[in-house]
Amino acid sequence: MNDCIFCKIAGGTIPSDRVYEDEQVVVFKDIYPKAPVHLLMVPRQHIESLNELMPAHDGLMTHMLRSLPEVARRAGLTDGYRTIINTGRGGGQEVLHLHLHILGGGRLPGF
Ligand code: 5GP
Ligand code: ZN
Repeated sequence: MNDCIFCKIAGGTIPSDRVYEDEQVVVFKDIYPKAPVHLLMVPRQHIESLNELMPAHDGLMTHMLRSLPEVARRAGLTDGYRTIINTGRGGGQEVLHLHLHILGGGRLPGF
């Protein structure tokens, strides 16, 4: 966990371009954006992926989802946005700290 890049970003030891934070989550710009706006929402708590979620995380997950409209509003995503959570190698997850991609700011390709 000590080597986790998103723990370091959440803790402030690695710099990031933050657009939102509260007591449970940090939201910052993806370093390699795949859309005009590409944000990452990470919980401050280290959880590897969706597969490690426990009942104790229910409040956190609800908080993440319910924070999205405010994050989107601050990022100027007035026309909508796409959310993605990659899980495991087969799902394309490269950073093993649960994170939610928020993409928008242009016409996204069909999914
Ligand atoms: P994943 O493939 O794990 O779902 O997504 C990881 C994302 O983290 C990628 O989109 C990648 O560009 C982003 N990323 C990786 N390292 C860093 C970093 O050090 N800073 C920021 N801001 N984004 C990162
Ligand atoms: Zn972590």
